[in-house]
Amino acid sequence: MTDLHRLSIRELAEGLSQAKFSSRELTEHYLQRIVKLDSQVKSYVTVTPEQALAEADAADAALKAGNATALTGIPLAHKDIFCTKGIKTTAGSKILDNFISPYDATVVEKTKAAGLVTLGKVNMDEFAMGSTSESSYVGATSNPWALDHVPGGSSGGSAAAVAADLAPFATGTDTGGSIRQPASFCGLTGLKPTYGRVSRFGIIAYASSLDQAGPMARSAEDCAYLMNVIAGHDAKDSTSVKKEVDDYVANLSNTSVKGLRIGIPKQYFNVAGLDADVKARVEESLKKLEEMGATLVEIDLNMTEAYVPTYYLIAPAEASSNLSRYDGVRYGYRCKNPADLMDLYKRSRSEGFGPEVQRRILIGTYALSAGYYDAYYVKAQKVRRLIQQDFLKAFENVDVIAAPSAPTTAYKIGANLSPTEMYLGDIYTLAVNLAGLPAINAPVGFDKDSLPVGLQLIGNYWSESQLLSIVHQYQQNTDWHTKRAAIAEENA
Ligand code: GLN
Repeated sequence: MTDLHRLSIRELAEGLSQAKFSSRELTEHYLQRIVKLDSQVKSYVTVTPEQALAEADAADAALKAGNATALTGIPLAHKDIFCTKGIKTTAGSKILDNFISPYDATVVEKTKAAGLVTLGKVNMDEFAMGSTSESSYVGATSNPWALDHVPGGSSGGSAAAVAADLAPFATGTDTGGSIRQPASFCGLTGLKPTYGRVSRFGIIAYASSLDQAGPMARSAEDCAYLMNVIAGHDAKDSTSVKKEVDDYVANLSNTSVKGLRIGIPKQYFNVAGLDADVKARVEESLKKLEEMGATLVEIDLNMTEAYVPTYYLIAPAEASSNLSRYDGVRYGYRCKNPADLMDLYKRSRSEGFGPEVQRRILIGTYALSAGYYDAYYVKAQKVRRLIQQDFLKAFENVDVIAAPSAPTTAYKIGANLSPTEMYLGDIYTLAVNLAGLPAINAPVGFDKDSLPVGLQLIGNYWSESQLLSIVHQYQQNTDWHTKRAAIAEENA
Protein backbone atom coordinates (compact mmCIF):
# COMPACT_ATOMS: atom_id res chain seq x y z
CA MET A 1 0.00 0.00 0.00
CA THR A 2 1.46 3.34 -0.96
CA ASP A 3 -1.11 5.60 0.63
CA LEU A 4 -1.03 4.55 4.28
CA HIS A 5 -0.01 8.11 5.20
CA ARG A 6 -3.36 9.36 3.89
CA LEU A 7 -5.31 7.50 6.56
CA SER A 8 -6.72 9.13 9.68
CA ILE A 9 -6.03 7.68 13.11
CA ARG A 10 -9.45 6.01 13.14
CA GLU A 11 -8.78 4.47 9.73
CA LEU A 12 -5.33 3.31 10.84
CA ALA A 13 -6.81 1.71 13.96
CA GLU A 14 -9.47 -0.04 11.88
CA GLY A 15 -6.94 -1.20 9.29
CA LEU A 16 -4.66 -2.64 11.96
CA SER A 17 -7.42 -4.39 13.90
CA GLN A 18 -8.85 -5.88 10.69
CA ALA A 19 -5.31 -6.94 9.64
CA LYS A 20 -5.53 -4.99 6.37
CA PHE A 21 -1.93 -4.05 7.05
CA SER A 22 0.50 -4.69 9.89
CA SER A 23 2.13 -2.22 12.26
CA ARG A 24 5.46 -3.22 10.71
CA GLU A 25 4.24 -2.28 7.21
CA LEU A 26 2.82 0.99 8.50
CA THR A 27 5.96 1.82 10.48
CA GLU A 28 8.20 0.95 7.54
CA HIS A 29 6.06 3.16 5.33
CA TYR A 30 6.57 6.16 7.61
CA LEU A 31 10.28 5.42 8.07
CA GLN A 32 10.71 5.31 4.29
CA ARG A 33 8.93 8.65 3.93
CA ILE A 34 11.24 10.13 6.56
CA VAL A 35 14.33 8.84 4.72
CA LYS A 36 13.05 10.20 1.41
CA LEU A 37 11.52 13.51 2.42
CA ASP A 38 12.86 14.73 5.76
CA SER A 39 16.09 16.02 4.24
CA GLN A 40 13.85 18.80 2.87
CA VAL A 41 11.69 19.35 5.95
CA LYS A 42 14.27 18.63 8.66
CA SER A 43 11.63 17.88 11.24
CA TYR A 44 13.38 15.01 13.04
CA VAL A 45 16.35 15.47 15.38
CA THR A 46 16.59 11.72 15.99
CA VAL A 47 14.97 8.89 14.05
CA THR A 48 14.84 5.53 15.84
CA PRO A 49 14.12 2.91 13.14
CA GLU A 50 15.34 -0.15 15.03
CA GLN A 51 13.38 0.60 18.15
CA ALA A 52 10.34 1.60 16.09
CA LEU A 53 10.36 -1.70 14.18
CA ALA A 54 10.79 -3.67 17.41
CA GLU A 55 7.82 -1.81 18.88
CA ALA A 56 5.86 -2.45 15.67
CA ASP A 57 6.55 -6.19 15.90
CA ALA A 58 5.44 -6.20 19.52
CA ALA A 59 2.30 -4.34 18.46
CA ASP A 60 1.59 -6.87 15.72
CA ALA A 61 1.96 -9.68 18.26
CA ALA A 62 -0.45 -7.91 20.62
CA LEU A 63 -2.94 -7.37 17.79
CA LYS A 64 -2.75 -11.07 16.91
CA ALA A 65 -3.11 -12.15 20.52
CA GLY A 66 -6.16 -9.94 20.95
CA ASN A 67 -4.71 -7.76 23.69
CA ALA A 68 -4.32 -4.53 21.76
CA THR A 69 -5.59 -1.09 22.73
CA ALA A 70 -7.48 1.15 20.30
CA LEU A 71 -4.17 2.61 19.05
CA THR A 72 -1.78 -0.34 19.22
CA GLY A 73 0.66 -0.27 16.31
CA ILE A 74 0.13 3.35 15.21
CA PRO A 75 3.34 5.43 14.94
CA LEU A 76 3.92 8.89 16.38
CA ALA A 77 6.70 11.42 16.93
CA HIS A 78 7.60 13.07 20.23
CA LYS A 79 8.81 16.62 20.60
CA ASP A 80 12.44 16.48 21.73
CA ILE A 81 11.43 17.97 25.08
CA PHE A 82 9.93 14.70 26.37
CA CYS A 83 12.45 12.51 28.16
CA THR A 84 12.83 9.17 26.44
CA LYS A 85 14.74 6.38 28.11
CA GLY A 86 17.68 5.29 25.98
CA ILE A 87 17.05 7.91 23.26
CA LYS A 88 18.71 11.33 23.21
CA THR A 89 16.61 14.23 24.56
CA THR A 90 18.12 17.58 23.58
CA ALA A 91 15.33 20.17 24.00
CA GLY A 92 16.99 21.78 20.96
CA SER A 93 19.98 22.82 23.04
CA LYS A 94 23.69 22.25 22.73
CA ILE A 95 23.79 22.07 26.52
CA LEU A 96 21.79 18.82 26.33
CA ASP A 97 23.50 17.39 23.28
CA ASN A 98 23.96 13.67 23.93
CA PHE A 99 21.81 13.77 27.06
CA ILE A 100 20.16 10.39 27.45
CA SER A 101 17.45 10.31 30.07
CA PRO A 102 17.39 7.33 32.44
CA TYR A 103 13.57 7.40 32.42
CA ASP A 104 10.56 8.11 30.20
CA ALA A 105 8.31 11.14 30.61
CA THR A 106 4.85 10.07 31.78
CA VAL A 107 3.42 11.07 28.39
CA VAL A 108 5.94 8.79 26.67
CA GLU A 109 5.26 5.99 29.14
CA LYS A 110 1.56 6.31 28.38
CA THR A 111 1.99 6.26 24.61
CA LYS A 112 4.18 3.16 24.97
CA ALA A 113 1.64 1.47 27.24
CA ALA A 114 -1.04 2.18 24.63
CA GLY A 115 1.09 0.33 22.06
CA LEU A 116 1.98 3.42 20.00
CA VAL A 117 5.23 3.17 18.04
CA THR A 118 7.81 5.96 18.47
CA LEU A 119 9.35 6.99 15.13
CA GLY A 120 11.74 9.46 16.75
CA LYS A 121 12.16 12.89 18.31
CA VAL A 122 11.31 16.10 16.51
CA ASN A 123 12.86 19.55 16.43
CA MET A 124 11.95 22.58 18.53
CA ASP A 125 13.17 25.99 19.62
CA GLU A 126 15.88 25.75 22.25
CA PHE A 127 14.18 24.94 25.58
CA ALA A 128 10.85 25.77 23.86
CA MET A 129 11.68 29.48 23.82
CA GLY A 130 10.64 30.87 20.49
CA SER A 131 8.08 30.95 17.72
CA THR A 132 10.01 29.71 14.68
CA SER A 133 12.00 26.60 15.70
CA GLU A 134 15.06 28.39 14.29
CA SER A 135 16.76 28.63 17.68
CA SER A 136 17.35 24.88 17.80
CA TYR A 137 21.07 24.11 17.87
CA VAL A 138 20.58 21.53 15.11
CA GLY A 139 19.20 24.21 12.77
CA ALA A 140 15.88 25.30 11.33
CA THR A 141 12.95 23.10 10.29
CA SER A 142 10.98 23.96 7.15
CA ASN A 143 7.28 24.57 6.82
CA PRO A 144 5.94 21.81 4.52
CA TRP A 145 3.66 24.36 2.81
CA ALA A 146 6.60 26.54 1.74
CA LEU A 147 10.04 25.19 2.48
CA ASP A 148 11.62 28.65 2.81
CA HIS A 149 9.21 29.45 5.66
CA VAL A 150 9.30 28.44 9.32
CA PRO A 151 6.83 25.88 10.71
CA GLY A 152 6.31 28.06 13.78
CA GLY A 153 7.47 27.18 17.23
CA SER A 154 8.39 26.02 19.58
CA SER A 155 6.80 22.66 18.56
CA GLY A 156 7.77 23.30 14.92
CA GLY A 157 9.22 19.83 14.33
CA SER A 158 5.98 18.20 15.53
CA ALA A 159 3.91 20.41 13.22
CA ALA A 160 6.19 19.99 10.21
CA ALA A 161 6.42 16.20 10.62
CA VAL A 162 2.63 15.82 10.69
CA ALA A 163 1.99 18.36 7.92
CA ALA A 164 4.47 16.57 5.63
CA ASP A 165 2.92 13.20 6.52
CA LEU A 166 6.12 12.06 8.19
CA ALA A 167 4.13 11.05 11.30
CA PRO A 168 0.38 10.43 11.71
CA PHE A 169 0.34 12.63 14.82
CA ALA A 170 2.76 14.04 17.37
CA THR A 171 3.11 15.36 20.88
CA GLY A 172 3.86 19.01 21.54
CA THR A 173 4.10 21.33 24.51
CA ASP A 174 2.59 24.76 24.93
CA THR A 175 3.88 27.32 27.42
CA GLY A 176 2.67 30.39 25.55
CA GLY A 177 1.35 29.06 22.26
CA SER A 178 3.82 26.42 21.15
CA ILE A 179 1.17 23.89 20.13
CA ARG A 180 -1.40 26.30 18.71
CA GLN A 181 0.87 28.62 16.72
CA PRO A 182 2.82 25.90 14.83
CA ALA A 183 -0.48 24.08 14.25
CA SER A 184 -1.76 27.33 12.77
CA PHE A 185 1.34 27.88 10.60
CA CYS A 186 1.22 24.28 9.30
CA GLY A 187 -2.53 23.83 8.79
CA LEU A 188 -3.06 21.37 11.65
CA THR A 189 -5.32 20.87 14.62
CA GLY A 190 -3.55 21.24 17.97
CA LEU A 191 -4.93 21.22 21.49
CA LYS A 192 -3.42 22.91 24.55
CA PRO A 193 -5.21 21.25 27.49
CA THR A 194 -6.15 22.84 30.82
CA TYR A 195 -3.11 23.24 33.09
CA GLY A 196 -2.92 20.04 35.14
CA ARG A 197 -4.74 17.81 32.64
CA VAL A 198 -1.58 16.16 31.26
CA SER A 199 1.42 15.20 33.39
CA ARG A 200 4.52 17.37 33.11
CA PHE A 201 6.72 14.66 34.61
CA GLY A 202 9.76 14.12 32.40
CA ILE A 203 9.12 17.17 30.22
CA ILE A 204 12.20 19.42 30.23
CA ALA A 205 10.87 22.42 32.16
CA TYR A 206 10.66 25.89 30.62
CA ALA A 207 8.13 27.79 32.79
CA SER A 208 6.54 25.30 35.16
CA SER A 209 3.35 27.20 35.97
CA LEU A 210 2.58 27.54 32.24
CA ASP A 211 3.92 24.37 30.56
CA GLN A 212 1.37 21.86 29.29
CA ALA A 213 1.60 19.00 26.78
CA GLY A 214 -0.95 18.17 24.12
CA PRO A 215 -1.67 16.55 20.76
CA MET A 216 -0.91 17.89 17.27
CA ALA A 217 -2.65 16.16 14.38
CA ARG A 218 -4.55 16.57 11.14
CA SER A 219 -7.99 16.75 12.72
CA ALA A 220 -9.82 17.15 16.02
CA GLU A 221 -10.72 13.48 15.82
CA ASP A 222 -7.05 12.48 15.56
CA CYS A 223 -6.22 14.79 18.50
CA ALA A 224 -9.00 13.18 20.56
CA TYR A 225 -7.40 9.75 20.12
CA LEU A 226 -4.07 11.00 21.47
CA MET A 227 -5.73 12.92 24.32
CA ASN A 228 -7.39 9.67 25.42
CA VAL A 229 -3.89 8.24 25.88
CA ILE A 230 -2.00 11.13 27.49
CA ALA A 231 -4.55 12.85 29.75
CA GLY A 232 -4.88 12.04 33.43
CA HIS A 233 -3.57 12.48 36.94
CA ASP A 234 0.00 11.48 37.68
CA ALA A 235 1.33 11.11 41.20
CA LYS A 236 4.76 12.13 39.86
CA ASP A 237 3.49 15.63 38.92
CA SER A 238 2.08 17.48 41.93
CA THR A 239 0.36 20.00 39.64
CA SER A 240 -1.50 17.37 37.66
CA VAL A 241 -5.11 17.28 38.75
CA LYS A 242 -7.09 14.34 40.17
CA LYS A 243 -10.09 14.64 37.96
CA GLU A 244 -11.83 12.07 35.86
CA VAL A 245 -10.70 12.00 32.24
CA ASP A 246 -13.29 12.25 29.48
CA ASP A 247 -13.49 9.83 26.60
CA TYR A 248 -12.57 12.49 24.07
CA VAL A 249 -13.32 10.27 21.08
CA ALA A 250 -16.73 9.23 22.33
CA ASN A 251 -17.54 12.87 23.07
CA LEU A 252 -16.69 14.17 19.60
CA SER A 253 -20.30 14.80 18.67
CA ASN A 254 -21.56 15.69 22.13
CA THR A 255 -21.41 19.48 22.00
CA SER A 256 -24.11 21.12 20.02
CA VAL A 257 -22.88 23.96 17.82
CA LYS A 258 -26.52 24.97 17.59
CA GLY A 259 -27.06 27.51 20.34
CA LEU A 260 -23.36 27.68 21.18
CA ARG A 261 -22.36 31.18 22.32
CA ILE A 262 -19.01 32.20 20.86
CA GLY A 263 -17.40 35.29 22.37
CA ILE A 264 -15.58 37.62 19.97
CA PRO A 265 -13.22 39.86 21.95
CA LYS A 266 -13.35 43.37 20.46
CA GLN A 267 -9.76 44.06 21.49
CA TYR A 268 -8.45 41.01 19.62
CA PHE A 269 -9.65 42.02 16.21
CA ASN A 270 -8.21 45.54 16.49
CA VAL A 271 -4.64 44.48 17.19
CA ALA A 272 -2.14 46.40 15.08
CA GLY A 273 -0.24 43.81 13.08
CA LEU A 274 -3.24 41.52 12.53
CA ASP A 275 -2.81 40.46 8.91
CA ALA A 276 -5.82 41.22 6.68
CA ASP A 277 -5.97 37.70 5.21
CA VAL A 278 -5.75 36.11 8.66
CA LYS A 279 -8.56 38.34 9.87
CA ALA A 280 -10.69 37.53 6.81
CA ARG A 281 -10.22 33.74 7.08
CA VAL A 282 -10.95 33.73 10.81
CA GLU A 283 -14.09 35.81 10.25
CA GLU A 284 -15.21 33.45 7.48
CA SER A 285 -14.77 30.48 9.81
CA LEU A 286 -16.87 32.23 12.44
CA LYS A 287 -19.54 32.87 9.82
CA LYS A 288 -19.53 29.17 9.05
CA LEU A 289 -20.00 28.34 12.74
CA GLU A 290 -22.82 30.87 12.78
CA GLU A 291 -24.44 29.07 9.82
CA MET A 292 -24.09 25.85 11.81
CA GLY A 293 -26.18 27.44 14.56
CA ALA A 294 -23.74 29.26 16.83
CA THR A 295 -24.35 32.78 18.09
CA LEU A 296 -21.51 35.29 17.92
CA VAL A 297 -21.38 37.61 20.92
CA GLU A 298 -19.08 40.60 21.09
CA ILE A 299 -17.17 40.63 24.39
CA ASP A 300 -14.52 42.69 26.13
CA LEU A 301 -11.18 41.33 27.26
CA ASN A 302 -9.77 44.50 28.75
CA MET A 303 -6.42 43.10 29.82
CA THR A 304 -5.24 42.33 26.27
CA GLU A 305 -2.44 44.89 26.34
CA ALA A 306 -0.98 43.30 29.46
CA TYR A 307 -0.57 39.79 27.98
CA VAL A 308 2.84 40.18 26.36
CA PRO A 309 4.62 42.08 29.20
CA THR A 310 3.13 39.81 31.89
CA TYR A 311 4.11 36.60 30.15
CA TYR A 312 7.56 37.88 29.26
CA LEU A 313 8.27 38.51 32.94
CA ILE A 314 6.78 35.36 34.44
CA ALA A 315 8.05 32.89 31.82
CA PRO A 316 11.68 34.11 31.91
CA ALA A 317 11.58 34.30 35.72
CA GLU A 318 10.58 30.64 35.95
CA ALA A 319 13.00 29.73 33.16
CA SER A 320 15.94 31.36 34.93
CA SER A 321 15.23 29.19 37.93
CA ASN A 322 14.57 25.98 35.96
CA LEU A 323 17.67 26.38 33.82
CA SER A 324 20.02 26.89 36.77
CA ARG A 325 20.45 23.11 36.87
CA TYR A 326 22.47 23.14 33.64
CA ASP A 327 25.83 23.92 35.16
CA GLY A 328 28.26 21.75 33.21
CA VAL A 329 28.59 19.43 36.19
CA ARG A 330 25.55 17.19 36.05
CA TYR A 331 24.16 17.40 32.50
CA GLY A 332 25.30 17.51 28.92
CA TYR A 333 27.73 20.07 27.65
CA ARG A 334 30.85 21.00 29.65
CA CYS A 335 33.39 23.61 28.51
CA LYS A 336 36.93 22.55 27.69
CA ASN A 337 39.77 23.05 30.22
CA PRO A 338 37.97 24.99 32.97
CA ALA A 339 40.38 27.06 35.10
CA ASP A 340 38.27 26.64 38.25
CA LEU A 341 34.68 25.91 39.31
CA MET A 342 33.35 29.40 38.49
CA ASP A 343 34.97 29.24 35.06
CA LEU A 344 33.37 25.82 34.51
CA TYR A 345 29.89 27.18 35.34
CA LYS A 346 30.30 30.37 33.37
CA ARG A 347 31.77 29.00 30.20
CA SER A 348 29.65 25.83 30.12
CA ARG A 349 26.54 28.00 30.32
CA SER A 350 27.65 30.71 27.92
CA GLU A 351 28.92 28.20 25.37
CA GLY A 352 26.01 25.77 25.88
CA PHE A 353 23.00 28.13 25.78
CA GLY A 354 22.00 30.03 22.64
CA PRO A 355 21.35 33.81 22.59
CA GLU A 356 17.55 33.73 23.12
CA VAL A 357 17.87 31.42 26.12
CA GLN A 358 20.60 33.63 27.59
CA ARG A 359 18.42 36.71 27.06
CA ARG A 360 15.58 35.11 29.00
CA ILE A 361 17.82 33.90 31.83
CA LEU A 362 19.09 37.48 32.20
CA ILE A 363 15.58 38.99 32.14
CA GLY A 364 14.30 36.40 34.58
CA THR A 365 17.19 36.72 36.99
CA TYR A 366 16.76 40.49 36.95
CA ALA A 367 13.01 40.25 37.60
CA LEU A 368 13.60 37.91 40.54
CA SER A 369 16.51 39.80 42.07
CA ALA A 370 16.08 41.24 45.57
CA GLY A 371 15.67 44.90 44.59
CA TYR A 372 13.24 44.28 41.72
CA TYR A 373 11.19 41.28 42.85
CA ASP A 374 8.20 43.32 44.07
CA ALA A 375 8.29 45.79 41.21
CA TYR A 376 8.40 43.17 38.46
CA TYR A 377 7.71 39.59 39.49
CA VAL A 378 5.08 40.20 42.16
CA LYS A 379 3.36 42.81 40.03
CA ALA A 380 3.27 40.45 37.05
CA GLN A 381 1.65 37.80 39.27
CA LYS A 382 -1.06 40.26 40.27
CA VAL A 383 -1.72 41.18 36.65
CA ARG A 384 -1.81 37.47 35.83
CA ARG A 385 -4.70 37.08 38.25
CA LEU A 386 -6.54 39.99 36.62
CA ILE A 387 -6.11 38.36 33.21
CA GLN A 388 -7.61 35.15 34.57
CA GLN A 389 -10.54 37.04 36.09
CA ASP A 390 -11.15 38.78 32.77
CA PHE A 391 -11.66 35.36 31.16
CA LEU A 392 -13.84 34.03 33.98
CA LYS A 393 -16.08 37.05 33.65
CA ALA A 394 -16.35 36.50 29.89
CA PHE A 395 -17.29 32.84 30.43
CA GLU A 396 -20.32 33.92 32.46
CA ASN A 397 -21.82 35.03 29.18
CA VAL A 398 -20.28 32.83 26.47
CA ASP A 399 -19.34 29.16 26.06
CA VAL A 400 -16.08 29.62 24.15
CA ILE A 401 -13.98 32.55 22.94
CA ALA A 402 -12.72 32.88 19.36
CA ALA A 403 -9.47 34.46 18.22
CA PRO A 404 -6.80 34.02 15.60
CA SER A 405 -4.00 31.75 16.87
CA ALA A 406 -1.43 34.17 15.49
CA PRO A 407 -1.63 37.62 13.90
CA THR A 408 0.22 36.43 10.78
CA THR A 409 0.92 33.32 8.76
CA ALA A 410 4.36 31.66 8.79
CA TYR A 411 7.45 33.91 8.62
CA LYS A 412 10.27 33.38 6.17
CA ILE A 413 13.25 31.44 7.50
CA GLY A 414 15.91 33.97 8.48
CA ALA A 415 13.42 36.87 8.72
CA ASN A 416 15.34 37.74 11.86
CA LEU A 417 12.55 39.43 13.77
CA SER A 418 13.64 41.51 16.74
CA PRO A 419 12.76 39.98 20.11
CA THR A 420 9.92 42.51 20.52
CA GLU A 421 8.45 41.74 17.09
CA MET A 422 8.67 38.04 17.87
CA TYR A 423 7.06 38.40 21.30
CA LEU A 424 4.19 40.48 19.87
CA GLY A 425 3.41 37.57 17.55
CA ASP A 426 2.35 35.66 20.70
CA ILE A 427 -0.41 38.15 21.57
CA TYR A 428 -3.28 35.68 20.99
CA THR A 429 -1.86 32.64 22.75
CA LEU A 430 -0.10 33.80 25.95
CA ALA A 431 -3.13 34.66 28.08
CA VAL A 432 -4.51 31.14 27.81
CA ASN A 433 -1.39 29.81 29.57
CA LEU A 434 -1.37 32.63 32.13
CA ALA A 435 -4.97 31.69 33.01
CA GLY A 436 -4.37 27.92 32.72
CA LEU A 437 -7.23 27.50 30.23
CA PRO A 438 -7.55 25.01 27.35
CA ALA A 439 -7.54 26.18 23.72
CA ILE A 440 -7.46 24.62 20.27
CA ASN A 441 -6.24 25.64 16.83
CA ALA A 442 -8.12 24.58 13.72
CA PRO A 443 -7.07 25.27 10.12
CA VAL A 444 -9.54 27.60 8.38
CA GLY A 445 -8.00 28.40 5.00
CA PHE A 446 -5.03 30.11 3.39
CA ASP A 447 -3.58 33.58 2.84
CA LYS A 448 -2.65 35.08 -0.54
CA ASP A 449 0.65 33.16 -0.49
CA SER A 450 -1.15 29.85 0.11
CA LEU A 451 0.07 29.63 3.73
CA PRO A 452 -2.35 28.17 6.30
CA VAL A 453 -4.41 30.33 8.68
CA GLY A 454 -5.69 29.09 12.04
CA LEU A 455 -8.73 29.80 14.20
CA GLN A 456 -8.27 29.53 17.95
CA LEU A 457 -11.10 28.57 20.27
CA ILE A 458 -10.52 29.12 23.99
CA GLY A 459 -12.64 27.18 26.45
CA ASN A 460 -13.35 27.30 30.16
CA TYR A 461 -11.42 24.96 32.49
CA TRP A 462 -11.68 21.24 31.58
CA SER A 463 -13.60 21.91 28.36
CA GLU A 464 -11.26 19.87 26.15
CA SER A 465 -14.12 17.62 25.02
CA GLN A 466 -16.20 20.64 24.09
CA LEU A 467 -13.38 22.25 22.09
CA LEU A 468 -12.57 19.02 20.23
CA SER A 469 -16.25 18.45 19.56
CA ILE A 470 -16.83 21.94 18.12
CA VAL A 471 -13.82 21.66 15.83
CA HIS A 472 -14.80 18.11 14.84
CA GLN A 473 -18.22 19.32 13.73
CA TYR A 474 -16.69 22.28 11.92
CA GLN A 475 -14.39 19.81 10.15
CA GLN A 476 -17.33 17.66 9.11
CA ASN A 477 -18.82 20.70 7.40
CA THR A 478 -15.61 22.02 5.80
CA ASP A 479 -12.53 20.51 4.18
CA TRP A 480 -9.62 22.78 5.23
CA HIS A 481 -8.18 20.06 7.46
CA THR A 482 -8.04 17.64 4.51
CA LYS A 483 -5.75 19.90 2.44
CA ARG A 484 -2.18 18.64 2.11
CA ALA A 485 1.07 20.41 1.38
CA ALA A 486 2.62 19.36 -1.95
CA ILE A 487 5.42 17.48 -0.19
CA ALA A 488 2.87 15.40 1.71
CA GLU A 489 1.41 14.28 -1.63
CA GLU A 490 4.76 12.78 -2.66
CA ASN A 491 5.14 9.05 -2.29
CA ALA A 492 8.16 7.41 -0.81
N1 GLN B 1 6.65 31.85 21.74
C1 GLN B 1 6.49 31.76 23.16
C2 GLN B 1 7.84 31.86 23.83
O1 GLN B 1 8.78 32.05 23.15
C3 GLN B 1 5.80 30.48 23.55
C4 GLN B 1 6.69 29.30 23.55
C5 GLN B 1 6.04 28.08 24.10
O2 GLN B 1 4.83 27.97 24.20
N2 GLN B 1 6.89 27.14 24.51
O3 GLN B 1 7.98 31.76 25.00
